[in-house]
Amino acid sequence: MTRQVLTVLGSTGSIGESTLDVVARHPDKFRIFALAGHKQVQKLAEQCLAFRPQYAVVADAEHASQLSQRLIEVHCETEVLYGRQALIDVAEAEEVTAVMAAIVGAAGLPSALAAARAGKTIYLANKETLVVSGALFMQTAKDSGAWVLPVDSEHNAIYQVLPTNYRGGLDEHGIRSIILTASGGPFLNTDLADFVSITPAQAVKHPNWSMGQKISVDSATMMNKGLELIEAHWLFQCPPDRLEVVIHPQSVIHSMVRYLDGSVLAQMGTPDMRTPIAYCLGLPERIESGVDALDFGSLGGLTFSKPDFVRFPCLKLAYDAMYAGGGAPCVLNAANEEAVAAFLQSKIRFTDIAQVVEHCLQQEFSDGLNDLDGLLAQDTETRSHAQQYISGLQG
Ligand code: NAD
Ligand code: MG
Repeated sequence: MTRQVLTVLGSTGSIGESTLDVVARHPDKFRIFALAGHKQVQKLAEQCLAFRPQYAVVADAEHASQLSQRLIEVHCETEVLYGRQALIDVAEAEEVTAVMAAIVGAAGLPSALAAARAGKTIYLANKETLVVSGALFMQTAKDSGAWVLPVDSEHNAIYQVLPTNYRGGLDEHGIRSIILTASGGPFLNTDLADFVSITPAQAVKHPNWSMGQKISVDSATMMNKGLELIEAHWLFQCPPDRLEVVIHPQSVIHSMVRYLDGSVLAQMGTPDMRTPIAYCLGLPERIESGVDALDFGSLGGLTFSKPDFVRFPCLKLAYDAMYAGGGAPCVLNAANEEAVAAFLQSKIRFTDIAQVVEHCLQQEFSDGLNDLDGLLAQDTETRSHAQQYISGLQG
């Protein structure tokens, strides 16, 4: 295996840190070209010192000057860049062989798309990229020969149990359906009457996974599973009616593929994102990830149930947006990002998140969005609708 030269976008986040943890175990296999950490200067400075990248990218001039100052103090020669264009530059730079796309939200779209355009190997954690621009992103990757590997644990599991020569076409591979497992999050058994008073602190406390705040809230509303349906639809060219969701609260089976002959293949493991990350980074080899072995002796049991749309209206909204196609998933995502941010700031209630999304999906929006500018314009417009509606809820 030749040494990979990596750009890690979102290096200071949950996925970013897990990525660097795996990378640090294999100094012979990976070199870091660039790290991007937005506004988390302290953490980014520590990462620069540990991995000595050529570049570090932050949000703006102010954070750049803070980071430069710290790097001088610790005698680190990493060059500091800032702004959106810098994210694109370090994603498409000549020397880079692979990009970990782990920025949260639609903010990660332009840089992920740049990596796709430049034909890089893309380790895709940023699911919002596929939700907002699935058709464009997959076509761009196809045209350039970029290799897209899913980091999201469900999609990584599916990737692992699909036939190795799978390039789309369920029928020709004898596949009946793709089954996404979902933990159901922290409120799977909460009394529905208590939903209105759920606090941000309760919502970000996921029972099995340790993740960033936004995706933790998405898991609590099950919007996360909805976004993942759309992600799977694009990644595996799977028609909406061939995608299933099953609740599996233990998060041991990370997803499954149902074959025509009755076989169901599953991938299992301890819930720790370093497994799918190491799978992606190591391919075609299996490499050490630091993840604890799955201990069957201490597993109480594996249980399964059907999702409930009354409890989880966001999942239903995402299903509808997937079926509607066109601009609907972009609207769904933008509205959800705004609603989750407002909920985290205690501006709206937990149950308002679905209301905001539903309201935005009822507005008029473009149908066929095939270019980045059009998608970003729709994203901006929906965010302003969402904010207006949120102000109304507060009043
Ligand atoms: P996080 O909040 O922990 O980290 C987000 C990263 O993005 C940070 O490095 C942050 O500095 C950076 N960032 C935030 N806003 C930015 C902006 N506007 N521009 C540039 N950078 C910005 O999030 P996370 O949990 O690591 O999730 C990252 C992505 O991976 C999300 O799309 C999420 O859905 C996906 N994902 C995460 C997990 C998980 O276990 N955490 C699992 C599957 C998929
Ligand atoms: Mg997931």
